[in-house]
Amino acid sequence: MSVPAGARLVLATHNAHKVGELRAILAPALPALDPAAVVGARDVGAPEPVEDGVTFAENALLKARALAAFTGLPAVADDSGLAVDVLGGAPGIFSARWSGRHGDDAANLALLLAQLGDVRPEHRGARFVCAAAIVTPDGFEHVEQGALFGTLATEPRGTNGFGYDPVLVPAGGSRTCAELDPQEKNAISHRGQAFRALVPTLVRVLGG
Ligand code: IMP
Repeated sequence: MSVPAGARLVLATHNAHKVGELRAILAPALPALDPAAVVGARDVGAPEPVEDGVTFAENALLKARALAAFTGLPAVADDSGLAVDVLGGAPGIFSARWSGRHGDDAANLALLLAQLGDVRPEHRGARFVCAAAIVTPDGFEHVEQGALFGTLATEPRGTNGFGYDPVLVPAGGSRTCAELDPQEKNAISHRGQAFRALVPTLVRVLGG
């Protein structure tokens, strides 16, 4: 597969939903940008690099570098996860495979809840963290981070979202992220914050 005609920015995800989110975040800042100019890794047939960084920022950068090199376009990538205070920031970069099986959300969540079984409410602080990176083919690199702070419920609640959403209750609220509608979550989420913070740099890179 090759880069579609008119593509100007490529996002390192195979998730069409995330491509839509980035288009929506960019639309008000770059009204002249054709939404079709923002494409996903699947649209260009890019291989997935080994994520061997040890921080969210390193992993976001290595995904964006690989995609910029493959496509010759500016590339955006994100890396995210859950950092639990009492676990010293784990599962962190291992969030997607905490139970041993990559992407098994139910098993990851069950293991985390079992590990925290006896931890009292005042010690259940945690945050979602996201690093969002842009890399251009000529070697420019920039990273922004976002965090959504909250506490962990003792049992899953809600059906929206994915991953650890059913147990993270954002600070100041009573509902878990899985009980928020997608717009409510995007407005406060780690990913929304990191991507919105990246917009001024994207505007510069894409030339307005
Ligand atoms: P990725 O960066 O999208 O690959 O996410 C890594 C892992 O972190 C996911 O598989 C989830 O387990 C967890 N995670 C990241 N962001 C969220 C979120 O917004 N809600 C719930 N879990 C998340």
